[in-house]
Amino acid sequence: MRRAHLIEDLQTLIGFPTVSTSPVTAIAAFMSERFEALGFNIEHFDDPHHPGKTNVICSAGPIDATGGLVLSGHMDVVPTEGQPWTGDPFKLRTTDTGRLIGRGTADMKGFLAACLSGLESLQVDRLRAPLVLVWTHDEEVGCHGSAHLAKTFEHLNRRLPSACWIGEPTGFEVLRKHAGHVGVEVRLQGQAAHSAYTELGANAVVASARVVGALDDLSRQWALRQGPEAEIGTDRPRGIPLNVANIHGGNAINIVPDRCVLQLGFRPLPGMGHSALVEELQATLDDVRLPDGTRLESEVLRVTPSLLTREGTHLQTLLLEHAASQQLGTAGYATDGGNLQSIGCEPLIFGPGSIQVAHQADEHVTVEALEQAVDQVRSVVNACCSID
Ligand SMILES: [Zn+2]
Repeated sequence: MRRAHLIEDLQTLIGFPTVSTSPVTAIAAFMSERFEALGFNIEHFDDPHHPGKTNVICSAGPIDATGGLVLSGHMDVVPTEGQPWTGDPFKLRTTDTGRLIGRGTADMKGFLAACLSGLESLQVDRLRAPLVLVWTHDEEVGCHGSAHLAKTFEHLNRRLPSACWIGEPTGFEVLRKHAGHVGVEVRLQGQAAHSAYTELGANAVVASARVVGALDDLSRQWALRQGPEAEIGTDRPRGIPLNVANIHGGNAINIVPDRCVLQLGFRPLPGMGHSALVEELQATLDDVRLPDGTRLESEVLRVTPSLLTREGTHLQTLLLEHAASQQLGTAGYATDGGNLQSIGCEPLIFGPGSIQVAHQADEHVTVEALEQAVDQVRSVVNACCSID
């Protein structure tokens, strides 16, 4: 019976083709309805600039009580185009071996389904601490939903419980940190001229070469930079990766180019803020000796904050009881955790399914893993929100 609900719910969730470019209206309505029926208070935080994009917050229990728990997951999925799927990615398929196949089964609608099942017999009036469910949009394209939510909460001076469980597919390993990602665009402006009269122009492509040189020097310095926590063992190598990612300039072979645009990305280490690094980058750009007649401007395009949750939280103890390993790990990818940390959460990443199959053709999760997740949700909610 329980298994039937779980699979049925996952089937419904997979059926919403919530690739990051599409609206999440339908899946948000489905999640809202289900939790509203259980007695949760439902709020939608819409992105004012992108219709159909919303974060869903479902709250229950005494909001001012200490402790409590946040359960969080994203509702969007990555695209499927060009991947060799053996069936419709948005139609859940079950194999004889207990595999559930479909886009988002692992990343991370499986966890959403586990929360629906795990909480389906919850009596919200018995909660002694707040239980807040945070379902976000556009995680896969830069954690835009949680960024918007964090900004709104900061503005409203609203907090969330510090214990925060994000159910990304980690194969039931507890991860407590990851690097962030900052995207920057540098635009160089020069003066166009006939290529027979180069002295009348100011070459933006030549200017960009000097910028790239300076960025290359900076990337060498940053490669030696250490984060707030020494990285040991199998963790990612230390140093802040800086990547000059693309460059576009010039139109025709006989015109001095008046414009060149380059984009770069860098990854602040776990626990490292991005503002000081952006300032350092800006100072580097300001110091570039540009050819006469050219100038540059830069713009931060996107910021996904890094995550560093301290060791020894109560939630850590609870999750380790269910974990595949007693080692705390580092995620190789960014999550909503960085944004949620900025509004008082101490996020831990832990969930069913493997990141190895996420974002791939025939993405899958096992029924067994999802059933384990259902029990984990029930048990952790009990422990954090002390249902009597
Ligand atoms: Zn994910």
